[in-house]
Amino acid sequence: MIAKELVEWYRENKRDLPFRLSKDPYSVWVSEIMAQQTRIDTMLPYYNRWMKQFPDIRSCAEAEESQILKAWEGLGYYRRAKMLWAGAKLIVSEFNGKFPSDYSSILKIPGIGDYTAAAISSIAFAQPVAAVDGNVLRVISRVLMSELDVAKDSTKKYVAQILNEWMIGSDPSDFTQGLMELGALVCKVTNPECARCPLREHCLSYRFDTQNKYPIKSASKKPVSESYVVYIIIDSDHLLVSSDWSDGLMEGYLRLPQVSSDSSYFEIEESLFTYKHVFSHKIWNLSVVKSNIKMNDDILDTWRWLPVSEIDSQPWISAHRKILQKYLKKSDLSSL
Ligand code: SF4
Repeated sequence: MIAKELVEWYRENKRDLPFRLSKDPYSVWVSEIMAQQTRIDTMLPYYNRWMKQFPDIRSCAEAEESQILKAWEGLGYYRRAKMLWAGAKLIVSEFNGKFPSDYSSILKIPGIGDYTAAAISSIAFAQPVAAVDGNVLRVISRVLMSELDVAKDSTKKYVAQILNEWMIGSDPSDFTQGLMELGALVCKVTNPECARCPLREHCLSYRFDTQNKYPIKSASKKPVSESYVVYIIIDSDHLLVSSDWSDGLMEGYLRLPQVSSDSSYFEIEESLFTYKHVFSHKIWNLSVVKSNIKMNDDILDTWRWLPVSEIDSQPWISAHRKILQKYLKKSDLSSL
């Protein structure tokens, strides 16, 4: 009953999104990875550009790493781009370029966990496997007035079991997308629009007016605050850049030289401005300075001189791209 009402509602109310035009597993995969931690209206231009640049698995697998990173620049959580690229390569080498259709083979693809495998299986291959993400957990927690902590894996498994039963006899693709759409458009984090919800008759939170109490979630950790000095050093139309990814952030993306604020690596010629960059788990407080190191001075192994004319074509970590844009706006160098 719930499945029937949900699927009917989805068919009448679904948004017209480009990745819903076909059930091609590659499109579903790219859209699901891009939509993780990212709003649909933010990821849509990236999705459209990506599909134009890499329209199929082979074109993605054969791309250069710098092309992949550049196409993802600005979208955040950059490991996702690398995993997509690695996944495309694996599909070419292990599955002759054809996306595997069984759930256990899909799970072998880098970057694909339970949720994405279930989403691809149900949407692209019509297999009755429930995909449980944050939106789905919120909807089901409210429908059942569940006291289980949605941050726990055991809760996800429990919800998946329930949904696998509800899915029996329905269209798995529309059921999965219907739940996702309901979470995004109706059963929102704040102010759920119960009056237009197809699950209203079955929802305990609606009946007892407890929507705001659910889902139950244990408190997440506060982001850690860190302070650094960022150097802008230009000599003979070359900018000093860094490929030091020892902190594990955004490997493959260029940086400006950045050192702990306790250690002044180069003599500071001029303090320029401060910049704050907020990640999900940490905050960078950056003090941007100029120094006048020359191209024949000693530098670290992970640093090198980049022609200023190539700044634009390189993939940059977003904090440092914004710093460069701010700096270049004030200087007489060509814009980014
Ligand atoms: S009735 Fe309200 S709280 Fe219940 S699932 Fe629908 S939108 Fe969410």
